[in-house]
Amino acid sequence: MTYVERVLNDIIAKNPAQDEYIQATTEVLHSIEPVLDAHPEYEANALLERLCEPERIIIFRVPWVDDKGVTHVNRGFRVQYNSAIGPIKGGIRFHPSVNLGIMKFLGFEQIFKNSLTGLPIGGGKGGSDFDPKGKSDREVMAFCQSFMNELYRHIGANVDVPAGDIGVGAREIGYFYGQFKRLTGSYEGVFTGKGLTYGGSLARKEATGYGLVYFTNEMLKVKNDSFEGKTVLVSGSGNVAIYAAQKATQLGAKVVAMCDSNGWIYDAEGVDLAAIKEIKEVKRARIKEYVNYRPNAEYHEGKGIWSIPCDIALPCATQNELHLEDAKMLVANGCRIVAEGANMPTTLDATQYFLDNGVAFGPGKAANAGGVATSALEMSQNSMRLSWTFDEVDEKLKGIMIGIHKNAYEASKEYGQEGNYVVGANIAGFQKVAEAMMAQGVC
Ligand code: NDP
Repeated sequence: MTYVERVLNDIIAKNPAQDEYIQATTEVLHSIEPVLDAHPEYEANALLERLCEPERIIIFRVPWVDDKGVTHVNRGFRVQYNSAIGPIKGGIRFHPSVNLGIMKFLGFEQIFKNSLTGLPIGGGKGGSDFDPKGKSDREVMAFCQSFMNELYRHIGANVDVPAGDIGVGAREIGYFYGQFKRLTGSYEGVFTGKGLTYGGSLARKEATGYGLVYFTNEMLKVKNDSFEGKTVLVSGSGNVAIYAAQKATQLGAKVVAMCDSNGWIYDAEGVDLAAIKEIKEVKRARIKEYVNYRPNAEYHEGKGIWSIPCDIALPCATQNELHLEDAKMLVANGCRIVAEGANMPTTLDATQYFLDNGVAFGPGKAANAGGVATSALEMSQNSMRLSWTFDEVDEKLKGIMIGIHKNAYEASKEYGQEGNYVVGANIAGFQKVAEAMMAQGVC
């Protein structure tokens, strides 16, 4: 039995109901096997066992009172996975599906993503099974304050710096920040994604989506191609999806479809992003309202966005939203590039199908790293007590995404799998963390 098989068997035995965590560790560990073979000292020092076990997991009660005076209790999580290369950094997710396995998969992926950015940030993730949909601002504030009443004692500018994720945007970060400040009396850069009036960075809101498109543009350049004239599908209609669609459109592509968890829209003339922003960012409504803005567009209830012919697919909604049958439809319809804006939106068999069928595939930990990279730029600005312009941040983001692409591509080449970004990103992300962990001794 190989070292990887032994570690994975142990993970499966110890974490029976954590499917997403098992999926993420399986993908990463198999793809770094050539590095492990070249470094027997990693096995001798139980490096993988230490890497796969979070430094600590905090699970806590979050009680709150709704507008009718009814008390509710949700579960809060913070997985501080690995701080070998810097303070913990990773988002907070509010979604009813949140559980320990999902938190651990996201935290595990975050270690490699953060490493790939080249910036000094460790990996973690947090969240709650709280559903912000349909809640009033006061209810969301009450929940965020209660969440922070426990979490504040575990975070800090040099310890752990959370950010947003699904269900956590500028509004929630504001409530967290206010409560943290009230509890600690400290005005420190303890969150990223903050509002611009209290330490936020320009271009942070756009960063994950823009970064995804910059990364995809590098994938296209390898093929001597560009976004110009391409038909693009973007799943989701949240923070990542909206700004991915915006940048792809700016680069000359036509985004013809987007979705939310209820259904998807198809607009052959190209999606009207002003309408999507009004529906999603202002009204917090459902995407089916889009047809009120564009009567010629179609709305379909349920899944199905991947059935539309396209050149490029950008899954930007959630984990495991693109299955093998979707991958088959995309390939049959001529899709040549898939890049993940969401974390692990593509199942393992669908990823393999893309790789086997010559589709260039950009995994989330590389392609969506622009968000966390810009969060690290927000931390730098906070430390220096200054603010960069939108263009300065955007230029740095572009440089970082070009660098991530280069590192992932070169690692894939070095290990004999040129253009396999899954292998390249995992290896490039792993190497720095592994070296730091070895240098710091058994801890
Ligand atoms: P948002 O909450 O802003 O948006 C999520 C979008 O995905 C919403 O439109 C939501 O629809 C849709 N969605 C959720 N579940 C499903 C589903 N099962 N089927 C179809 N659509 C669904 O989150 P973000 O845009 O911030 O995050 C999206 C993804 O990107 C996540 O995987 C996140 O981890 C990842 N990511 C985010 C980063 C960031 O900076 N925000 C950074 C790196 C990765 P609905 O409104 O109906 O819920």
